Amino acid sequence: MPREASAGGIVVRDQAGVLEVAVIRPHGRSLWALPKGHVDPGETPEQTATREVWEETGLRATLVAPLGEIRYVYQFRGQRIFKRVHFFLFRYLTGVLGDIQHEGQRVEVDEARWVPLVRVSALLGYKGEKAIAARAARMLLRAGPVLAPSSKPPEESGD
Ligand code: ATP
Repeated sequence: MPREASAGGIVVRDQAGVLEVAVIRPHGRSLWALPKGHVDPGETPEQTATREVWEETGLRATLVAPLGEIRYVYQFRGQRIFKRVHFFLFRYLTGVLGDIQHEGQRVEVDEARWVPLVRVSALLGYKGEKAIAARAARMLLRAGPVLAPSSKPPEESGD
């Protein structure tokens, strides 16, 4: 069975004490998902995740920690494909969600939205991504001040 590797991220910001996550609605799909994409030749999953977060959300973010990988099989033109997707936790830095500069990527994403971290697992459409979001939420609850406003420079607090 052909294999594919992608990488993506959970980007978290602190909005007046409420942690929020950037989610996207991939083009033509009626569900919410995390930004992700194919690992290009020569890229590490960390580099891919950082690039895909930027391309699919318009956000610049700092990688905080790995969140593990999900695996699934899907069909493309009658062929079954085995896919692994590495996910990472990111802290929001700059950018406006949905302000996508790249023409091609704008077509791949129909909508983007900030949602409270506590609701993201229930909102996401894919089981594997729900589990990743739940893991991120647990990690952030344990970590406490990792994303608190006091740990960020003032210019990072905007949209
Ligand atoms: P990428 O975003 O990695 O470049 P893509 O858009 O080419 O990928 P996928 O998002 O993997 O491809 O979608 C291919 C198929 O797999 C679609 O039918 C999609 O609904 C399904 N799919 C996507 N993510 C998941 C998942 N986490 N679990 C199960 N099926 C998924």
